[in-house]
Amino acid sequence: MRLWIKDPIAVLAPGAERGLVVEDGRIVELVGKGQTISQKADHIFDAGRHVVVPGLINTHHHFFQTLTRAHPQAINKELFPWLRALYPIWARHVTPDGFRLATRLALTELLMSGCTCVSDHQYLFPAGLEDAMDIQAEEAERLGMRMTLTRGSMNLSEKDGGLPPDSIVQDEDTILADCERVLARYHDADEGAMLQVALAPCAPFTVSKRLMVDSVDLAERFGCRLHTHLGETRDENEYCLAHYGCRPIDYLEECGWLMDRVWLAHGIHFEDDEVQKLGRHKVGIAHCPTSNMGLASGQCRTLELEAAGSPIGLGVDGSASNDNSNLMESVRHALLINRLTYDAASITHLDVLRWVSQGSARCIGRDDIGTIAPGKQADLAFYTLDELRFSGAGDPIAALVLCGAHAADRVMVKGEWRVEDGQPLAVDVARLRHEHGAAAKRFLESV
Ligand SMILES: [Zn+2]
Repeated sequence: MRLWIKDPIAVLAPGAERGLVVEDGRIVELVGKGQTISQKADHIFDAGRHVVVPGLINTHHHFFQTLTRAHPQAINKELFPWLRALYPIWARHVTPDGFRLATRLALTELLMSGCTCVSDHQYLFPAGLEDAMDIQAEEAERLGMRMTLTRGSMNLSEKDGGLPPDSIVQDEDTILADCERVLARYHDADEGAMLQVALAPCAPFTVSKRLMVDSVDLAERFGCRLHTHLGETRDENEYCLAHYGCRPIDYLEECGWLMDRVWLAHGIHFEDDEVQKLGRHKVGIAHCPTSNMGLASGQCRTLELEAAGSPIGLGVDGSASNDNSNLMESVRHALLINRLTYDAASITHLDVLRWVSQGSARCIGRDDIGTIAPGKQADLAFYTLDELRFSGAGDPIAALVLCGAHAADRVMVKGEWRVEDGQPLAVDVARLRHEHGAAAKRFLESV
């Protein structure tokens, strides 16, 4: 079936002034100014109210944290005290049913903001939640979203001098066996894949060195990506110097992690030579502007990293450090926080839109999504400019970022509509709000 998405207000692609044609899940043709389609279309979608951009790609999140938003014991804290407050609460209360609702809620929020492909850094595995990755695969499939199942891990806990309670970590052998199981079952390396898998020790300091090294071996064997948190706070540098006698990047290098298979969450506190080193090895950075502001973590050196060779993608980060999962809102935050570091001409709305699409795709190792061009997957986000906040806007693409687009009117994944008139087709939003809200109540019981 050929669908002509006809005459949009604007498209974030050169030569698509009159829209684009989608067939069998792919973009097959861009229709330029004064042109018409080369072959007859089976359907025409009148996009006269829409600004069309590539489906947004989220490179970092922790879905389970939606259950502890604005938690009274965690608000107004920086990272380490924030984690110390929340770990015991998560350890006591995250159940498979709650985790499923948290996953569904975060995916739905992301989708409604215009996101078509997500990765969730899931590192919490208390007893009973051994099927976490399977639950996430089912929920992504239900919503029709692409997902990189990011199998996290922690094997150092309080008994080893770490922050997490003993009850939410697993031993090395259990982790590696499950990583292998999840890879074998879900990792699809083919073009157009709906599910892929990445391996993701929570942070180099919450797992053993052997697990870091063995994760690389497994990733190379299965051809998958590697992910972890790095450079989020200054505390982390001090912790690393005290415990390992080196800075985090040096430790990462010792573990064999400096390579283009890796993308790091945050990547803030790096020295000049470390920026160059990351760039040389093409290590990707999941820039999480909203979270970085929320936890007062600092400002990522995005432009230096990008100039050095690192892909920059965007992530909303966990819902307890960014209390919503709206990726389009984080695009705006990316522009604003980077304007505190760089001048206005150096960082534009086009840069942040490029990060959330092409840059994010590079971070998760995909070249079939992230741009609107013939041959690419038909993953698209459509925004109207009907709200008061857009009235009077000149440049429609700039308006999305500067006026603050936050809700997609339509979303397409692999050529299929997944959101229409602002509503996801596969989820009853009111019911989900009720069920998730009820599940989250128990996380307040111990306050
Ligand atoms: Zn995170």
